[in-house]
Amino acid sequence: MKAFRCGDVVPGCAREFTGTDRQDILDQVAEHARSDHRVEVDLTLVEAVEANLQDR
Ligand SMILES: [Zn+2]
Repeated sequence: MKAFRCGDVVPGCAREFTGTDRQDILDQVAEHARSDHRVEVDLTLVEAVEANLQDR
């Protein structure tokens, strides 16, 4: 399993995500970024997520 804490990229955000693989996480983060942070996923955000992915 992969895990990602939004707070590692967006200070103050407490959302955590777990998924089966990188794409699963990215899909969830894209949805969250749009609805809660009002940002669209771009390359910078994808790289930030990948840099902070954890193996569980
Ligand atoms: Zn967040």
